[in-house]
Amino acid sequence: MTDDAVTPMMAQYLEIKAGYADAILFYRMGDFYEMFFADAEAAAAALDIALTKRGFHLGEPIPMCGVPVHAAEGYLLALIRKGFRVAIAEQMEDPAEAKKRGSKSVVRRDVVRLVTPGTLTEDSLLEARRHNYLAAFAEVRDEGALVWTDISTGELRVMPCPRNRLSPELARLSPREVLVSEGLMAELAPIITDLGAAVTPLARAGFDSTGAERRLCALWQVGTLEAFGSFGRAELSAMGALVEYLDLTQRGKLPLLRPPLREALGGAMQIDAATRRNLEINAALSGGRAGSLLDCVDHTATAGGARLLERRLSAPSCDLALIAERHGAVALLLDHPRLREDLRNALRRVPDMDRALSRLALDRGGPRDLAAIRNGLSQAGLIADLMSGQDSALLARSSQGLRGHDNLISLLDQSLVDEPPLLSRDGGFIASGFDPELDETRRLRDEGRGVIAGMQAEFITRTGIQSLKIKHNNVLGYFIETTSTHAERMLAPPLNETFIHRQTTANQVRFTTVELSALETRILNAGNHALELEKRHFAALRQAVLDHAGPIGVAAAGLAELDVAAGFADLAAAEDWVCPKVDGSRAFAVQAGRHPVVERALRRQGGAPFIANDCGLTESGTPAIWLLTGPNMAGKSTFLRQNALIALLAQAGSFVPARAAHIGLVSQLFSRVGASDDLARGRSTFMVEMVETAAILNQADDRALVILDEIGRGTATYDGLSIAWATLEHLHDVNRCRALFATHYHEMTALAGKLPGVENATVSVKEWEGEVIFLHEVRKGAADRSYGVQVARLAGLPAAVIDRAKVVLEALEAGERAGGGKAKALIDDLPLFRAAPPPPPPAPARPSALEAAIKAVNPDELTPMAALKLVYEWKQAL
Ligand code: ADP
Repeated sequence: MTDDAVTPMMAQYLEIKAGYADAILFYRMGDFYEMFFADAEAAAAALDIALTKRGFHLGEPIPMCGVPVHAAEGYLLALIRKGFRVAIAEQMEDPAEAKKRGSKSVVRRDVVRLVTPGTLTEDSLLEARRHNYLAAFAEVRDEGALVWTDISTGELRVMPCPRNRLSPELARLSPREVLVSEGLMAELAPIITDLGAAVTPLARAGFDSTGAERRLCALWQVGTLEAFGSFGRAELSAMGALVEYLDLTQRGKLPLLRPPLREALGGAMQIDAATRRNLEINAALSGGRAGSLLDCVDHTATAGGARLLERRLSAPSCDLALIAERHGAVALLLDHPRLREDLRNALRRVPDMDRALSRLALDRGGPRDLAAIRNGLSQAGLIADLMSGQDSALLARSSQGLRGHDNLISLLDQSLVDEPPLLSRDGGFIASGFDPELDETRRLRDEGRGVIAGMQAEFITRTGIQSLKIKHNNVLGYFIETTSTHAERMLAPPLNETFIHRQTTANQVRFTTVELSALETRILNAGNHALELEKRHFAALRQAVLDHAGPIGVAAAGLAELDVAAGFADLAAAEDWVCPKVDGSRAFAVQAGRHPVVERALRRQGGAPFIANDCGLTESGTPAIWLLTGPNMAGKSTFLRQNALIALLAQAGSFVPARAAHIGLVSQLFSRVGASDDLARGRSTFMVEMVETAAILNQADDRALVILDEIGRGTATYDGLSIAWATLEHLHDVNRCRALFATHYHEMTALAGKLPGVENATVSVKEWEGEVIFLHEVRKGAADRSYGVQVARLAGLPAAVIDRAKVVLEALEAGERAGGGKAKALIDDLPLFRAAPPPPPPAPARPSALEAAIKAVNPDELTPMAALKLVYEWKQAL
């Protein structure tokens, strides 16, 4: 064959690849998935595996790499994490079949699945305690809608969503992948990738709402979708696109999507992305889960419960009745420690039924998933018994679906072994006694294996070769093996009349006998037959589970609900939290509140205890703002955040870290910190700060709770002060919201006298023998002074600098008292400045390379990152 002929296999490869241009194609060849051309180059680099060459295409060597099938999941995960999509092409027939068609014929292959970040189902690819959402956003005329699903649990939710709500809603869900119509890509892709999700464009046709309605009716086998709610065109369009995409990626095997649940816009506390980051709700600023609020309050015992908890914290409710009901359930479990412990112990044995069910639905499940359903449902029955007669509407409702699975449980109980294997491939999961035919076949197979052992003993006697063995491999099947030293004797009469030569290797010779072949056929047949029977049982059991999918889903949801309530109760008991009162007032009264995460960190360090603090905003209808001053490190940020977290926890259905709390419903929560370092994004830190502050001033209504920490810090003093000042006035006069405002601009304390809704508060510190002692106590009133100099000493600044700073400070303060605005004159008056001799006139010299470089720079055109880089370079050049 010439170098530039296309082999039949390459032709097949290229044809399949043409359909998946934007994905890496895993092309199955025996025990490997192989990748070619650019795919191979990209994957080899991403996975750090060897890139080789295989054959030629159009005269050029073909780059290739491969991963073994048995280890493919790990590689898949690595590729998905790095932002790739992977199409998996399997062999659709036995290679023997292909051979029958002719020597040139290639094994039929086809893509069975397109793996994308939002469509994972394998346990090894998913985080058990987190949702893995796939979302779609659609717009029909001016109406927008967002739909999302976790295909590993089948949950599907939809809500109307105008474009300007998209970013905060996505921040709440943090989906792994978002589908948008091609036409919206340019506008929406930046918003979506900014939140860390992958964006996938779909053709406009995929968003057609009329086709979507038909398709959705067929999916849930209903005549009209009205049964689930009345959906707008945009909602239908988004749902249709989502289903179309699942069809595409799962190649026709739709996951078990539950009927859509509609979420109302405004049903949950609105929390935008910056606030989530700042408050470290689901992830700490460092990125991980450790150190986040979620991590701190998660006492759930099951994966399903952990996922529900994450949803609750991401979207605290605004429904007073629901919040009260959830607190009621926690209170009941708190008051009954025995019941709570029994419940939690029972929950610990509940496997992840949602995810097992979804794998079974996609035909990707195994016997272990069946066992998960069996064990989960039996535990559910026990839990229902535990919970019967408890006086809580929520607990009763959640327990309702836990019973009524007896038929399925007993079927799975009788049919499955206790601990079945992960895959059905090798059999061994159907319990003995369930199917007499299977038992009989297995007996034949196993007896055959026993007979082989006897046969080996007999052959040893017959040949006198002690080291003779009967072995098995996939190529030869059963064979007799001796070392080559015995070859001559085995190949000569009389032994060669019985022993038929099969193979000679470097050190061994291998034989078979008529007897052994016959036995092998019997074992093989029995083994295959047993496997066949087990596969049939698997299919039937899988169907039985899927027929019961609805009730299993209800049971799983009930267990998750109980788990969250029990987890909250356990948390409240362990940490001494109280039931907050949440109502429709505008109150915000927290007595002895604590910051749950900081408190825990302090406890772990074993040092000083956390100091609890009160916070009382308004009871009446007036706006209520606390202006918090005090030195750095006093605990201002901690106080601000703890109050935001208490409101969030209360509406998420949890008890709160305080002695008492009364919270008027908070519909929006905003939190901003001045001058957060955002170098990586290349926007000026101050610009970021202002953009974020603007968002609050434009959106906050009188039900919002706003936390502003050192706004204005990112610019020059007087600019910063004026911006902070005007911001506070706006919150007070226009937004009329509840707010906590921390600042080190002492001047702002004057505002309390001007604006009736503003009160001063400060975090007190004590000075003792020239040192500052932080008391971490918040009290009404303004801070006396800034203490920054003392804090600098704590930070280790040289004593000479501290002393000098004190002199400057005193002079400045004296100047301020004497009339202000004279800073320049004052500074000139300071002894040290005056004492310094005037500098000698600079010697005329040629500008150095460094000077030239500095001259060449236009500071206005530099990003912060580039500026930093230059400073490093210059320093190096010195
Ligand atoms: P600020 O915002 O005033 O600079 P922070 O809120 O960052 O101060 O607090 C600084 C440190 O003080 C925290 O890391 C914490 O260890 C400690 N701290 C803050 N508040 C308290 C408190 N109420 N009780 C005990 N320690 C606290």
